[in-house]
Amino acid sequence: MSALADDQLRARAAAIELAVFDVDGVLTDGRLILDDHGTQTKAFHVRDGLGLKALMRHGIQVAVITARRSGVVERRMTELGVVHLRQGAGDKQAALGELLDELGVDGQRTSFMGDDLIDWSAMKLCGLSAAPGDADAWIRARVDLVTTAPGGQGAVREFSELLLAARGALKAWQDSYL
Ligand SMILES: [Mg+2]
Repeated sequence: MSALADDQLRARAAAIELAVFDVDGVLTDGRLILDDHGTQTKAFHVRDGLGLKALMRHGIQVAVITARRSGVVERRMTELGVVHLRQGAGDKQAALGELLDELGVDGQRTSFMGDDLIDWSAMKLCGLSAAPGDADAWIRARVDLVTTAPGGQGAVREFSELLLAARGALKAWQDSYL
């Protein structure tokens, strides 16, 4: 797991109340699989899903903001109990701003994990920004944290565990499965 570089970053991570995730390239590997019938398929990683559930179990709200629209994203988020889902959000900063207003959460207590240029405007509002290990290089150079795992293959789980660890809840969560 990637480590938080310093105490200041750890403190920001410990303060996170709302964790926001992009879909394509973060919760998936970024590939859009389309068939002749117009059906869209995406692959989500089951371990990322358990990471999101762990966050919610420990009082961190989870939200998803994506520029695209698809039924599979809605279905997967419903399965996981993620209720804050914004699809078709071309302006991610505006979508995040609305969400923060709605939930009454401060941007400094919000994290955003994204993988591409379009995510930066929203990340700028947040106290903690993160990107998967295979994110666009421009984004990787700007975020607070880059995970070892790539998008769709554990990046979300790794970041979720890092947030739990920052607030001292990781071991308790893992031990709950003993
Ligand atoms: Mg993306």
